[in-house]
Amino acid sequence: MIEVQLKKGKEKSLLRRHPWVYDTAVGRVAGKPDSGETVKVTAADGRFLGYGAYSPKSTLRVRMWSFDEAENTEVPEFLRARLEKAVKAREGLLARTSARRIVFGEADGIPGLIVDQYGDWLVTQFQSAGTERRRDEIVADLMAMTGAKGLFDRSDAATRQREGLAVHTGVLAGEEPPELIEVAEDGVKYGVNVRLGHKTGFYVAQRESRLAAQQLARDFEKTHGRKMRALNCFCYTGGFSLALALGGAAEVVSVDSSAEALAQAKRNADLNGFTEAQMKWVEADVFACLREARERGETFDLVILDPPKFASSHFHVERAARAYKDINLNGLRLLTAGGHLFTFSCSGAINPDLFQKIVAGAVIDSGKDAWCTARFGAGVDHPLLMTYPEGEYLKGLHLEVR
Ligand code: SAH
Repeated sequence: MIEVQLKKGKEKSLLRRHPWVYDTAVGRVAGKPDSGETVKVTAADGRFLGYGAYSPKSTLRVRMWSFDEAENTEVPEFLRARLEKAVKAREGLLARTSARRIVFGEADGIPGLIVDQYGDWLVTQFQSAGTERRRDEIVADLMAMTGAKGLFDRSDAATRQREGLAVHTGVLAGEEPPELIEVAEDGVKYGVNVRLGHKTGFYVAQRESRLAAQQLARDFEKTHGRKMRALNCFCYTGGFSLALALGGAAEVVSVDSSAEALAQAKRNADLNGFTEAQMKWVEADVFACLREARERGETFDLVILDPPKFASSHFHVERAARAYKDINLNGLRLLTAGGHLFTFSCSGAINPDLFQKIVAGAVIDSGKDAWCTARFGAGVDHPLLMTYPEGEYLKGLHLEVR
């Protein structure tokens, strides 16, 4: 096995079992490892640190497989055991949903591998050289473990290019999935387009927040004696909108700039039998839409803000912070007395503390007082590995206007 020796002092993160080695930490490479080849990582003083997959083009030069010198990472049993553990950990979710993340990369000890399961179908993202190299092995194991009808690959994320890997989409095992895979989550049906949808087709990470929205709509009627009116911004294929409708919202106005997403959202509403009077779909820019709603004097009992990643890296934090502040301020302004705001950020570069500060700034400028009555994050299928805080990218706050 080729040895990769780190520069002096650069072993600290591996000693804390963080799974990444940056290119800048690498001192000497005793050979020329292929893309994804397993290397032995050592400290400047020669002590063993771990085994990892080498990625010659990436700034994440090595992604660690193991910190245990006695572990044989090269045998099929190694990956199979990790996959089995990951798949097993998500079994409990089946009672609630047929849309689950069954492998969450670094958190499951398989850096760069994302696997989502939609009913009988699997969708993969191989985002690292190491998982790409062992792709066939992983695909065969996943098919055998889950009994899926087919596995569709959506390795088209920008992260692939940074790894020096070509984009790939298509079936890797079994049958072609249907154009729309029907899933059900907490009583709501969704059609998932795994070929053209965002990420693997659906935002599985928002499950807990969608359930909270559904429950809030239900509770609102009990407390207020009337059904709520809600605004769902960045609605995509209607995730929150349909959850609110099932909870009994009187009217849900949903905004997205993508006509394709809205078309799918409407199909999803039909699938659940929600009426057109209940669901309003608006193709527009949210930033402008919030201002226009205010000019018209519109109000809502709940505003949801679940924008795309505004900060793609720490270089964009300042600009992103301004954008978050803008939508949160203008969202808050539309709320009725006692109204609710569900606000999210999926930018890894914006940490939960900073996000809370930005939202607090928006509250102050709105002149309203608000309580944060709950915090949101991804569900149990996106576990936070304590040695890898980067895995916690999604955060959200539930504010209630006092
Ligand atoms: N809340 C969704 C996921 C949102 S993804 C769910 O739970 O399923 C972000 C969405 O924002 C995408 O559908 C994208 O089309 C939309 N979008 C991005 N920028 C926008 C803008 N400026 N105005 C309106 N929609 C936007």
